Amino acid sequence: MTSAEFTNGRECASALDAADPLRALRKEFFLPLADDGKAIVYLCGNSLGLQSRLAGQFVREELEDWAELGVEGHFRARRPWLPYHRQATEGLAYLTGALPQEVVAMNTLTVNLHLLMASFYRPDAKRHRILIESTAFPSDRFACESQLRFHGFDPATALLEWQPRPDEKLWLEDLEALVDQHQDELALILLPGVQYYNGQVLDMRAICAMARRAGCRVGLDLAHAVGNVPLELHEWAPDFAAWCSYKYLNGGPGAVAGAFVHEHHLGGDASHTLLGWWGNREASRFKMASTFEPAETAELWQLSNPPILSLAPVVASLQLFQKAGMAALGAKSKSLTDYLEFLLSQQLGERIHSITPRAARGCQLSLTVRSAQPAARTVFERLEKRHVVADWREPNVIRVAPVPLYNSFMDVYEFVRRLEAAFDD
Ligand SMILES: *Cc1c(COP(=O)(O)O)cnc(C)c1O
Repeated sequence: MTSAEFTNGRECASALDAADPLRALRKEFFLPLADDGKAIVYLCGNSLGLQSRLAGQFVREELEDWAELGVEGHFRARRPWLPYHRQATEGLAYLTGALPQEVVAMNTLTVNLHLLMASFYRPDAKRHRILIESTAFPSDRFACESQLRFHGFDPATALLEWQPRPDEKLWLEDLEALVDQHQDELALILLPGVQYYNGQVLDMRAICAMARRAGCRVGLDLAHAVGNVPLELHEWAPDFAAWCSYKYLNGGPGAVAGAFVHEHHLGGDASHTLLGWWGNREASRFKMASTFEPAETAELWQLSNPPILSLAPVVASLQLFQKAGMAALGAKSKSLTDYLEFLLSQQLGERIHSITPRAARGCQLSLTVRSAQPAARTVFERLEKRHVVADWREPNVIRVAPVPLYNSFMDVYEFVRRLEAAFDD
């Protein structure tokens, strides 16, 4: 069914689900129930992805191996812990369009941003400014501001901000104008792949090319992009990228995050990298020598041996992504969100407005309420009472994200029905 053939009724949702080649995947996940045992509509995979059955299995297996093997698990666990982070490498490379040597699973997102900025934000007196978007996720802003201060600059004058226009969208030509105007002072551009608030997918290829022309470094925060939209990091060639794994990657709360360093930065002497023993080449790591031998992959940026128990669900999730395939997931994602857009415009066009650009989005729509009454916050609270899990962002946005791994077309249908009802409560 193409978007031209969508209709308003419940039977359309049923037909779409029946024709969905990925429909069996939903059974691989735990869908939370409301207190009264009723099904909820979970559209919050952009904030915390759901637990897969495989995640539980992988964690249990590590606990068993630990119980049975103790320290020997480093070598003899079914997935040995010593090289355990490599269990994630192929899947992360697949999802981000990277070479395997360019990615590593480590730490958490903001930690990775700092570690990567330690290497790639290297200001001098002239070129020292960092460019972000004015609606940046607070953690990214705090990370950049503190990097500026750490190097002796004042964020009030050294941070450059790309502002959205009154339509709430970020316009590439505005960025281009900023970069042109300040190119001699720019040291780093740090931007998201998908803007968390309005759901806009930024033109990452163009942003990377722009940074190269300006002679500055560029990093991408892919928190809302990975597992959501197609990525070609090796080709686009940002200097670095980082993402968390608990949103679309379903890695669980606080899951181990990911990082990307482009191939052209690999194989160096590590003189601008903060180091720990896990960045030492594996072959010589356990000689416990006092000289460091740098790994020749993104693993150089690792500091510590990884937390196996919080990496196991990520490994499980990556296997599910690889099994389903990004092409099939992308096709379903487009259909799900097109259907959501269709129903909203048909049923609630007068009351609800999406600030997410139709031509540049992943699965998320950011919805605002057109009228003053009821207030957006009230509508959101009524939705909660009706067992819809969406998420609220100040000052007035309800974010909803049907994800192709476990959401159904019926979820979308039910959401719109309950949203309509919420207006009339
Ligand atoms: C979710 C998110 C974060 C969260 O950072 P953590 O270090 O994982 O707590 C940071 N930045 C962006 C853009 C995000 O979407």
